[in-house]
Amino acid sequence: MSGLDALPPLREVIGAQNLTARKSLGQNFLLDLNLTGRIAREAGPLAGRDVLEIGPGPGGLTRALLAEGAAHVLAIERDDRFLPALADIDAASGGRLIVEPADALAADEPALLARHGLTPPVTIVANLPYNVGTALLVKWLTEPRWPAWFSSMTLMFQREVAMRIVAGPGAEFGRLSVLAQWRTRPRILFDVNPRAFLPPPSIVSSVVRLDVIPDPAPAPVKALEAVTAAAFGQRRKMLRASLRTLGRDPLPILAACGIEPTLRAEQLPVAGFLALANAYAD
Ligand code: SAM
Repeated sequence: MSGLDALPPLREVIGAQNLTARKSLGQNFLLDLNLTGRIAREAGPLAGRDVLEIGPGPGGLTRALLAEGAAHVLAIERDDRFLPALADIDAASGGRLIVEPADALAADEPALLARHGLTPPVTIVANLPYNVGTALLVKWLTEPRWPAWFSSMTLMFQREVAMRIVAGPGAEFGRLSVLAQWRTRPRILFDVNPRAFLPPPSIVSSVVRLDVIPDPAPAPVKALEAVTAAAFGQRRKMLRASLRTLGRDPLPILAACGIEPTLRAEQLPVAGFLALANAYAD
């Protein structure tokens, strides 16, 4: 039996240390070993790779990442109550778990990786807290340098958010779809029943894997964020109206990009947004 297999069952750890889930921190724990193992396998291959995990909590997914052979797991956790349970996992894994007690939204990941001697690009894997999942994904997708410090992200989202990430033009298409599909290849791996979590959330979740495209079509990130915010901020309006909030007459810019001014944001493919971002940045 390896050190990790000898750890007490998660349910026991949660009970003994009184780790009741806090709603304010989006805490819904995964206790099913088949499921955590499946997420770790589908995020892989992890053997010999360094992994960044956000929100390890009591460490169910963390155990699976280490069991899959990750060289190191750097885990950022905001709730200090989990530190003793995570220290036990570190000891059982032969010192392969590094825990950073911090808010992931404010974290400087490249600096953290360097401080712990981990070599980018790393693999990101997380059962994200629902209240910060989208903000974290946007933070990573809008990194100023690309390719960034990670090569893939395997993340749990509410199914509705997962559908938006992979959506093509249409009702579910939005800012998240454009950013994700510009710089990564996103796909939904599988859905997760609410009953798999403790406590069960009210919605179905999906695991999404996003593989980094090392050489995406060039576009200025800030301008792309501004254009998508303006266009989808008033998604029922035609682009000739919604883009006015950017402060310049949209008509000549749309014409220069070969885009019909009567289109609505949800009808414009990703390439159209990239063209607009380049035109607005000029
Ligand atoms: N990974 C564990 C699992 O799968 O059982 C816990 C997942 S739970 C959905 C989300 C975790 O993220 C919790 O442990 C919570 O404390 C942590 N968390 C919430 N907000 C955070 C933040 N801003 N930065 C870092 N961790 C955060």
